[in-house]
Amino acid sequence: MSRGRPELDRERCKGCTLCVSACPEKILVMSRDQFNRQGVPFAVCFDESRCTACMSCAIICPDMAIRIFRLTAAASEPNVAASDG
Ligand code: SF4
Ligand code: SF4
Repeated sequence: MSRGRPELDRERCKGCTLCVSACPEKILVMSRDQFNRQGVPFAVCFDESRCTACMSCAIICPDMAIRIFRLTAAASEPNVAASDG
């Protein structure tokens, strides 16, 4: 199974929670006591080791706030699987 590392841009996040609902691994949550410059809670990943690089969160995010780095099996060199553009 592929492994991935999600990178969430808190300043782009508008707190819609769509990615939280979309993640099949249930490893995304909204920040509780922290807010971005827009004054909203932002999505964070609490267990990157469980990310399968499925891309569901990045695809559903309306603000392109998520990038997924796909980790290769043989090395720790990350490959960019999704961009924010
Ligand atoms: S890529 Fe998939 S498993 Fe990883 S955080 Fe996003 S939705 Fe969850
Ligand atoms: S889908 Fe995008 S904008 Fe919505 S909570 Fe997740 S990261 Fe933030």
